[in-house]
Amino acid sequence: MTTVYNFSAGPAVLPKDVLLQTQQELLDWHGSGMSVMEMSHRGPEFTQIIQEAEADLRDLMAIPAHYKVLFLQGGATTQFSAIPLNLIGRTGKADYVNTGHWSKGAIAEARRYGDIHVAASGEDRQFTYIPDLTRWQVRPDAAYLHYTPNETIGGVEFQSVPTVGDIPLVADMSSNILSRPVDVSRFGLIYAGAQKNIGPSGLVIVIVREDLLGHALPLTPKLMNYQLVADNDSMLNTPATFAVYVAGLIFKWLKAKGGVAAMEQINIAKADKIYAAIDGSQGFYRNPIDIACRSRMNIPFVLHDDALNAAFLKEAADHRLLQLKGHKSVGGMRASIYNAMPMDGVDALVSFMQDFAGRHT
Ligand code: PMP
Repeated sequence: MTTVYNFSAGPAVLPKDVLLQTQQELLDWHGSGMSVMEMSHRGPEFTQIIQEAEADLRDLMAIPAHYKVLFLQGGATTQFSAIPLNLIGRTGKADYVNTGHWSKGAIAEARRYGDIHVAASGEDRQFTYIPDLTRWQVRPDAAYLHYTPNETIGGVEFQSVPTVGDIPLVADMSSNILSRPVDVSRFGLIYAGAQKNIGPSGLVIVIVREDLLGHALPLTPKLMNYQLVADNDSMLNTPATFAVYVAGLIFKWLKAKGGVAAMEQINIAKADKIYAAIDGSQGFYRNPIDIACRSRMNIPFVLHDDALNAAFLKEAADHRLLQLKGHKSVGGMRASIYNAMPMDGVDALVSFMQDFAGRHT
């Protein structure tokens, strides 16, 4: 088998052990004689799978009992609509913090459903920083405040949870969930598309405080209504069964690795190595983000001369370092190093970057 290191931003690398287990169980899950793909979502086997997945996620994130965990479909983007549909009804107003591409997407969609105000924005400096909390202008009657703890494209990450008083905080954790401990009780709602730290794309997980349910706008589609989904244990229709199964295996893998606190230490060490390679390159590589909010998950960097980009990507691929091309909106390169990226992959990238710089300076 060809070993590669896959730095894709998502769908992204998954743990080898989980893929192997998926392969072993593909035709016959635990002696059932069936693949998980073939099982009724209401049968005892799948019921066990989804209940264990939820229990393991609750353990990993220490999710309090008064929060619901929902397994939904349509990726994080569908939640850009579902969140205002479900939560804006209390006051008709919601505030958003704009730290980049994905914040903007959430804001644009929310504008369809009510009075949306941008409480703070990093656009004046091309989203290379997070505006200071003291300058956020949050309306006291906002039904919620939405932010993006990690901007997957820009590579900007909040290093702590903003304090916003009593206004329910809503977070798009698609690209940093389970990469570090978070105090769930600080949030009204957390959501995350699965294809980075959770599993196969399409699945999206919503963790929502119970008291926020029950205010959905009348036009909310049934399948997006959190209250109805919660009342039906995420089985209002057929869930993404195979994706839930793989997510459950990832949760067990994470627990076996020591959980999110242990993962955070590894993630810090991995990110530090790449930033050190960038900062120590005497300007050959550059990351434009304020040091205090550099992402541990997605590290964009540019080469001092764009004319070298094609050679960098080709030689990296020759070294089996794949999917390093940056998003077209920022150019250059991006190394996404989610939980499943092993330290060996980071070491291989760093030594390649140093070698490449040495040969092209
Ligand atoms: N939010 C963030 C932070 C993301 O990184 C992404 C996907 N890269 C999305 C939302 C959109 O997710 P999806 O494609 O699953 O709808």
